[in-house]
Amino acid sequence: MSTTTVSLVGSTGSIGTQAIDVARADPDRFRIVALAAQRSVDRLCAQAELLHPELVAIGDASLAPELARRVPAGTEVLAGPVGLATAAVAAEVVVNGVVGFAGLPVTLAALEAGRRLALANKESLIAGAPVVQRARRTPGALIVPVDSEHCAIHQCLQASAPKSAEPDTSVVARLLVTASGGPFRGRKASELGSVSVEEALNHPTWNMGPKITIDSSTLMNKGLEVIEAHELFFIAYDRIDVVVHPQSIVHSMVELVDGATIAQLSLPDMRLPIGYAMGWPERLGTPYGALDWTTAQHLSFEPPDRTTFACLDLAYRAGRQGGAAPGWLSAANEVAVAAFLERRLDWLGIAEVVEETLDRCKDDPLDSVEAVLEADRLARVEAEAIVARRPHAP
Ligand code: MG
Repeated sequence: MSTTTVSLVGSTGSIGTQAIDVARADPDRFRIVALAAQRSVDRLCAQAELLHPELVAIGDASLAPELARRVPAGTEVLAGPVGLATAAVAAEVVVNGVVGFAGLPVTLAALEAGRRLALANKESLIAGAPVVQRARRTPGALIVPVDSEHCAIHQCLQASAPKSAEPDTSVVARLLVTASGGPFRGRKASELGSVSVEEALNHPTWNMGPKITIDSSTLMNKGLEVIEAHELFFIAYDRIDVVVHPQSIVHSMVELVDGATIAQLSLPDMRLPIGYAMGWPERLGTPYGALDWTTAQHLSFEPPDRTTFACLDLAYRAGRQGGAAPGWLSAANEVAVAAFLERRLDWLGIAEVVEETLDRCKDDPLDSVEAVLEADRLARVEAEAIVARRPHAP
């Protein structure tokens, strides 16, 4: 087995730190050569001391002098968006664990350089779909999804076309994206008017960063994942369903044209999909726990409550609309979630802000990176104004 070089962009976040776990458990297979973060200097320095990468990059350039002073001798230090993009192409496999739309330059740099992209940053694919899809056609470029549902679908598709670089979807009838349902599953909108940030951050099965945890509470995460699935696997929205599965054991399913359904099951631990994407097409030798079938297991499935969790259908609407709409949806959601975390917006307000912003979507063609950035900027301006006009959160 040869060693794969790995670059971690967003190395100090939830995905990045777990990717380091995976790499350190298998040093013969993985060598981390580049680390990059937006502004967590202390954690980045600690990681550099532990891993001795060839280069480290920090998005916030004002922190570069401090970083340069503190990293081990011989480590190259880069800064700003160019620094992050350089880190992204420094290895055979790039893990994009950046949070939100800020991950777009990393996704594009990795694909345009023909790298394998272990993609945890769904927002870049959703908001920048036309330019990302173009970059994806670069020889050598390949996306292996880290998002557990899409990683599950990727694994299920291998069952019908083993080890093909781009999975064969001609035999797919439907994709079934599973959702835990989040902390508010079973509750109605009338009970959710005054939920706190702490309640929304209390996810029942997954331990993740704050943005995605709030997205899980609204089902926007699942909505974004429906768009992500459409973009990754080219399946029409009418053939992508969401199934609530509170145990988070079945990570998604693929129904084939002959009626067979293939599912991927494992414990809810992100190190499996991270390692799968880093090591593909080989399987990791290190399990992060396995299901215990000697004890009783109860797996349940139910349809989502699309009325209470309005974000789900807003995402379907934006996805079907295409063009700039998915980017507007995602940008409005980032603004609304930030406002909720800062206690400037109530939980029910997240879906309302997203809907109102989407109503104002300017459907300009997204034929360049500049157009994608401009759509994101416009959507944020609209969403911020809508948040500001609302009565203040209780
Ligand atoms: Mg997911």
